[in-house]
Parts: sequence; structure tokens; C-alpha cells
Amino acid sequence: QAICGKVKREKMKYVFLVFFMNLLPQYAGKSLRRDDSYPKTFEDIKNEIAGYTDIAKAIIDLAVHGKAQNRSYERLAVFADTIGPRLSGSKNLDAAIKYMFSALQEDGLENVHLEPVKVPHWERGEEFAMMLEPRNHSIAILGLGSSVATPPEGITAEVIVVASFDELHKRAQEAKGKIVVYNEPFINYGETVRYRSQGAVEAAKVGAVASLIRSIASFSIYSPHTGWQNYQPDVPQIPTACISVEDAEMMSRMSFRGTKIVVHLKMGAKTYPDSPSFNTVAEIVGSKYPEQIVLVSGHLDSWDVGQGAMDDGGGAFISWEALSLIKDLGLRPKRTLRLVLWTAEEQGGIGAEQYYQLHKVN
Ligand SMILES: [Zn+2]
Repeated sequence: QAICGKVKREKMKYVFLVFFMNLLPQYAGKSLRRDDSYPKTFEDIKNEIAGYTDIAKAIIDLAVHGKAQNRSYERLAVFADTIGPRLSGSKNLDAAIKYMFSALQEDGLENVHLEPVKVPHWERGEEFAMMLEPRNHSIAILGLGSSVATPPEGITAEVIVVASFDELHKRAQEAKGKIVVYNEPFINYGETVRYRSQGAVEAAKVGAVASLIRSIASFSIYSPHTGWQNYQPDVPQIPTACISVEDAEMMSRMSFRGTKIVVHLKMGAKTYPDSPSFNTVAEIVGSKYPEQIVLVSGHLDSWDVGQGAMDDGGGAFISWEALSLIKDLGLRPKRTLRLVLWTAEEQGGIGAEQYYQLHKVN
């Protein structure tokens, strides 16, 4: 999610930049391309868009005041309540894809079909952490996607707390045989998430036996987060999980005072062979340029520890609603409007990446 979110944001920034550049007076009336190959000026496009004011109003009215009022919310509530968590490789994700395949057909959309994708299949199993020194304290953890398990008896080791990779490298000698606890300050998601995705690898490089990472969050109510993480070839794979901001801060205070911290960690995570899954596609075929595609999308998979109502049920269902509204009004756009519901986004945009590789030529 993190990686994809960042790329998306950066692309959007570029789109907005181009858009607003053309609003500047010196660009008005000029070609949208430097080599003047694009025939329309910004003025042309502005006028063309203005011609759709009534249609835009009809769509908004249907969504906000008409019979489609609250529809996407209701559809999402039924979906999330019925299917529940939809982790890559799980039966629930299969059920979600089947559910959406039928729902999009029943909605009367065109070319409803599934495109096969092989996706990772990781299950967290049972997991817990217990502080043994300086006192007994149960530490809330969430194992990170792709983490290996601990040995069946668990790992009991002393903790070293660091605030950054720099500090870890400076104190590399001390980290050997220990559990590395990262108490990295939260700057923003895009910047701070590398502690989650690379924390285990960096800790393993200096000989640590496990890593516990402060959840990548600006706010906490003692709630650890999960997410994907990446091992590297030739670096030992050590178990890794997120802990709450509160426990990371407490262990940091303890270690600052020179208090010895010992933690017992047990994780039963398992990675299975990749399993078959699908991107789910539906369209409204364009009237004039059917081969030109306007793509709207969200991802159907979610993490296992929630219902994925917002991430990314919200994105998936609002994208479906865009097509639904246009169909309900009997509108047919000039270009094909295509909905794609990705699979295995949380594992690194697997479904979207495959779609891109298969479709980039057209
Ligand atoms: Zn997501």
C-alpha cells in the first residue's frame, strides 16, 4: 500500500502540475504539447468541458440526491460485512472476486471478466510477544507480511532500541544476537515506512535475531499496524513485527535509563506457494474511441486483521459507482470507461504490475 500510494501521489502531482500550468495566462490558447503535435489548445478543452455542464450536474444529482444516494456506501457495507478480511491467497479474497464478478454483471456493465494473476500466499498464524525484564508485560504485535516464523519455542533475547538506521549502524556491535526495537520518529508515511519494509533486513545485517518496529502512525491508541516487508537475497531472514507507538516509546525510555530489557517473541507465520487469483474488470465501451481507455480502479484485497472497508473497499466501490452512475443515466462516453479491481495490492501491487506488463503495449 505504501509503495503504491507514493507512486500514485507522485503521478497525480504531475497531472495537476500539467493541468495548472495550462491555466497560467502565458499558456492559454497554446498547444498542450511542446512540439505542437496535440491539436487542441487549453481554450478548446475548457470550452469542450463546459459543454458537459448539464451532464455533470445530472451525475452529481443522481449520486447526491437521487436514487443512487448512499448506494455505494450500502453496497460496500454489505460487501465488507459479508466477505470480511481479504488477504492475498485467502479463500475470502476468492469469495470477494466471485461476489464482485456477479455484482458487476447484475449491474448491467459490459465486458465483465477476470484476468488471472498469481499472488503471494502468506498467513500470520498465532503470534505474541512478552516482556520478561524489567517486568512482565504483554506487548501487542502484528507480524509483517512475508515475515518468517520464530522457532516453535520462540525467541528470548535482550533488546536494543534504536531511533534510526544510522544509530543501528553505529551500534552494530551491540546488536548481535539481540532483538532490534526501532523507535523511529514518525515524519510522514512515505518516508517513515522504510523502517517497516527494510527494518528486518537492516537488523539481520548486524546479526540481530528479530526486529520489532514502532507502527508507522501519527497517532496511536495502543494499536500495532501491519503491512508488507521485504527480505533481501543473501541476508538472513529474521522474524519481524510491528509494535504500538506506546510500547516503542516505553522501551526507548527504559533503555535510555540503562535498564536491561528482555523480550520473548513467538510467531507462527507461514508462506505457501503463490496461489491463483484475478484482477476483476468491467467496462462501458466507448462510442467514438472504444480503443482509448479511461481507467478507474481500486483493490479488492485487504489485510487479514480488518475488513478493508476503507483500504481499499472505499476506492474499489467508488470506482464501481462511477460506472454505475453513467450507466443508470443511459450515457455512453466517447472513450471506454474501464473499472479494474486489483488483486494483491497490499503485497506490492502484484495485480496492477501484471496488468501493466500485459497491457502496456495497448
Ligand atoms: Zn491498500
